[in-house]
Amino acid sequence: MAKEKENEIMEKIVSLCKRRGFIFQGSEIYGGLAGTFDWGHFGVALKNNIKQAWWKKFVDGRRDMYGIDAAILMSSKVWEASGHVAGFSDPMVECQKCKRRFRADQLDPNLQEICPECGGKLGEPKQFNMMFQTKVGAVEDSSSVAYLRPETAQGIFVNFKNTVDAFHPKLPFGMAQIGKAFRNEITPRDFIFRQREFEQMEIEYFIRETDWEKYFEYWKEQMSAWMEECGFDMTKIHELEVAPEDLAHYSKRTVDFEFDYPFGRKELFGLAYRGSFDLSNHKLEYVDEENSDPSTGSGQGKMVPHVIEPTFGVDRAMLAILLSAYNEEDPERPFLKFKPSMAPVICAVSPLLKNKPELVEYANAKVYAMLKNEFGRVAWDDNGNIGKRYRRQDEIGTPWCIVIDFDTLTDDSVTVRDRDTGTQERVKVSDLVSYIKNKLN
Ligand SMILES: [Zn+2]
Repeated sequence: MAKEKENEIMEKIVSLCKRRGFIFQGSEIYGGLAGTFDWGHFGVALKNNIKQAWWKKFVDGRRDMYGIDAAILMSSKVWEASGHVAGFSDPMVECQKCKRRFRADQLDPNLQEICPECGGKLGEPKQFNMMFQTKVGAVEDSSSVAYLRPETAQGIFVNFKNTVDAFHPKLPFGMAQIGKAFRNEITPRDFIFRQREFEQMEIEYFIRETDWEKYFEYWKEQMSAWMEECGFDMTKIHELEVAPEDLAHYSKRTVDFEFDYPFGRKELFGLAYRGSFDLSNHKLEYVDEENSDPSTGSGQGKMVPHVIEPTFGVDRAMLAILLSAYNEEDPERPFLKFKPSMAPVICAVSPLLKNKPELVEYANAKVYAMLKNEFGRVAWDDNGNIGKRYRRQDEIGTPWCIVIDFDTLTDDSVTVRDRDTGTQERVKVSDLVSYIKNKLN
């Protein structure tokens, strides 16, 4: 029963996201391209809110963080140095009968040699590199090979020297990037959880080696604080201390933040101490004037900073926020209980009747124009009766619906209906902006 209920919730979310214009299958009218999704008007709005909340807290809100927006196409030399060309692969098996491919580590351990689709015999596991390779320019030879980046982190590391030369930051300092990354997943699955094209928000925080434990703890707290601010259901978040034997060879400590998705407890974000692995691979150095250490053998304070890496998936954040917000306590009225600051629409403006020009005129000129100018994310909704409009806005997660009725024409007040409680309040039009601003904060 539990399993059915889980699938049911995912089905409801997927269907709501399509019906209300959040998320569509990529290339849908041509049958879809597996592992890709397109974002509709409200999906873009929610995604932008997530990214802006992140940038505001971790970049604009700090003095020690430098933004970067590196190219998605990167030289093959970057990925040779980082180890991705040799090692960024998953074990893959192919069915000898139907030719379908599966990730060997995701198969039922008791049925390792049997195709889950057709029952045919599976071949031996092979390593499958997940990077998308492409050719740059008109000449096709090995020097024209480039890759779509499989992570945004390397775009930060290869700009370490540029950033140091341009801004002369003192340790500790960080570099932050939001951008797309691409992985040729063998089996994309679970809606937007595992895609072939996705978006990351990553920080590389450069420190002195002796400080790593302190900053690891610090970033763990910062990550939790951000999740709380964005409205993640914190009862569904779990910190998983990655066991020493499972750590990447360069990492001394990794913590995965996991989320209870309907399809299981799985990774949401990660925090890793990467040592000096990446900067050393790219042969990059830093002159630490404050901490010249002759014992390292590098003169003039030359050293390789160590790195703490908090990494966030935009799409996984979005899925977790959608699941956290989804509320069906009243099955007749399911709604998305977003934090108002994250909601794709802050408020909707409605003339009670759309065939009464005096109501429409007032709503448009005196209310909608004012709120649109102030908040931007404001919807105009005059379709169907008021009950239907409320239901639609509830599903979009709009915190407040503002209705202009016949009383408005004489008393310059409107009805504000609250999404979570369904209660209604009369508010003066001249007080509306401050009324909403107060509730937003
Ligand atoms: Zn098969």
